[in-house]
Amino acid sequence: MSQPLRELPPPAPGEDDKPHEECGVFGVWNVTDAAAVTALGLHALQHRGQEASGIVSFDGAHFHAHKGLGLVADNFGSAKIIAGLPGRSAIGHNRYATTGETALRNVQPLYADFAFGGFAVGHNGNLTNALSLRRMLVRRGCIFQSTTDSEVFIHLIAISLYATVSDRLIDALRQVNGAYSLVALSNSALMGVRDPLGVRPLILGRLPGADGGAGWVLASETCALDIVGASFVRDIEPGEVVTIDDSGVHSIRPFARRVPRFCIFEYVYFARPDSVVEGEGVYAARKRIGAELAAESPAPADVVVPVPDSGVPAAMGFAEAARIPFELGIIRNHYVGRTFIEPTDQIRHLGVRLKHSANRAVLEGRRVVLVDDSIVRGTTSRKIVEMVRAAGAAEVHMRVSSPPTTHSCFYGIDTPERGKLLAATHDVAEMAALIGADSLAFISIDGLYRALGRNARDASVPAFCDACFTWDYPIPLTDSAENEAALASQLLGHG
Ligand code: AMP
Repeated sequence: MSQPLRELPPPAPGEDDKPHEECGVFGVWNVTDAAAVTALGLHALQHRGQEASGIVSFDGAHFHAHKGLGLVADNFGSAKIIAGLPGRSAIGHNRYATTGETALRNVQPLYADFAFGGFAVGHNGNLTNALSLRRMLVRRGCIFQSTTDSEVFIHLIAISLYATVSDRLIDALRQVNGAYSLVALSNSALMGVRDPLGVRPLILGRLPGADGGAGWVLASETCALDIVGASFVRDIEPGEVVTIDDSGVHSIRPFARRVPRFCIFEYVYFARPDSVVEGEGVYAARKRIGAELAAESPAPADVVVPVPDSGVPAAMGFAEAARIPFELGIIRNHYVGRTFIEPTDQIRHLGVRLKHSANRAVLEGRRVVLVDDSIVRGTTSRKIVEMVRAAGAAEVHMRVSSPPTTHSCFYGIDTPERGKLLAATHDVAEMAALIGADSLAFISIDGLYRALGRNARDASVPAFCDACFTWDYPIPLTDSAENEAALASQLLGHG
């Protein structure tokens, strides 16, 4: 007899379990002051998540954890906190989630005591079948402690019939769909995993070991190696599981090999410009994207002005290619968080004003090309265009170093639902009118691929995950009405 499906309890007020997370992960093995090194690594990865951070360390006998809402420096700036996290191995996590999901119980790394010992995990990405798995696990008696999708890893590992930690982890990985770069820590090893398409980044680095041997680092980006003086060893490969213990680094490939689909938006916006991602320096890539944009959509202007900070490298590339002077016409106040952190639309408007001011000396009487990396809701662009005009610009042309964002990301970049994406409901001319620009142009998807050293996007094997621009979701969107709606409209060929 079939059982009625037990639904999840509704989220508590102010909380939802929508999978909207961007994150940074870091881990070390056999390193002196592991927690302090991890705190530094997380600090370098702060751009990947500013809402909360956590560290779990292991001292050879016990696990220790500290988590908090807010920035890494606020949570781990005190010597007393670090002293409470002893050991030569640790993992850490920065979280960036939409409002409502800030509850401390959702802050990672997640930790559990299993029959085989302790296990902590930090996840960057989003699982697309987490709700279905969660329903199955709740039916089997699992008691969830958080609303984060990542918790399914813990329960899948707990119920696995395999003996070793790494076999249990692999058993769990075989059941999840989605994007994930994981760092995990057990009594016997540090582990790192990338999903079969390698949507999110994860790298391996090396540090002098605490015992004179090798010390190892896992991190989302190379900028986290630089801050602790670690050397880059290699990218963890898509579909690879590495287990690091005192005998070295062991690699397993439990999945059939597939054509990787690294997130193209990491190059456009998300990764830090000084990071080298998948062998490609992000700063140089962004400059090339800007140059390509200038070639595709030149603008009659006297000055190129970036929307700081994320628009700066692309604007430099644009200015160089177009032979138009580059000037800092907008100054950013660095003591305010990113606009996206503000929860409501009204506050987001306020956030933009708090964050940017016009440099009148550069703008007055000039024809200005504004370069930004993306238009999502359009809030930032509208405010900036208005501000630049108010400072006396004669013309304002907006150039964007990504194609129109027409679809939400379900793989770990926080994007609003489709209805709130300006490009989902407006064409370029309408968008130009709405943001008040004299002209507006986006780089084409083929131009973006060219700038990243690939030929035009080949639909049979695209080199990247570019679903936010092309609608081509490479991993099934198993859960949620929104996912289903997105798929249905894709199948119907419109929307
Ligand atoms: P909007 O005001 O909604 O159009 O947002 C566009 C601005 O937000 C651009 O300046 C981007 O640099 C930035 N941005 C784009 N995607 C994200 C994201 N996922 N999280 C935070 N900021 C973003």
